[in-house]
Amino acid sequence: MHQQTIHLHAAAPAKPPEGQPCNGCGVCCALETCPVARLRFLQIKGQCPALEWAANDKRYVCGLLIRPAHYLKCLPNRGEALASRLFARWISAGRGCDCKADVQP
Ligand code: SF4
Ligand code: SF4
Repeated sequence: MHQQTIHLHAAAPAKPPEGQPCNGCGVCCALETCPVARLRFLQIKGQCPALEWAANDKRYVCGLLIRPAHYLKCLPNRGEALASRLFARWISAGRGCDCKADVQP
């Protein structure tokens, strides 16, 4: 069995079982990058550079989704809404947890 150590915020919610609604625990994006992030950051393993802690909501969010222009400097401001919609579709945002990882504290 492959084991990997990740570091997440102490206030982050526990990972739900696969198939349950995503709660922003951050586990998936701390383990490895999604296809969009692989293209942007040329990184597969380890925490995604766009994984952001949202202190007010006490959950992780996808920086590429919520502020794409910050990570895509060539993106014009008026393209932000469209980019967010495309990324949401690409990473299947809002479709429930698709991470099979078994998390041990
Ligand atoms: S998809 Fe799953 S592992 Fe990834 S942040 Fe959402 S709940 Fe956590
Ligand atoms: S781009 Fe967003 S969804 Fe993809 S790995 Fe990074 S934080 Fe996660």
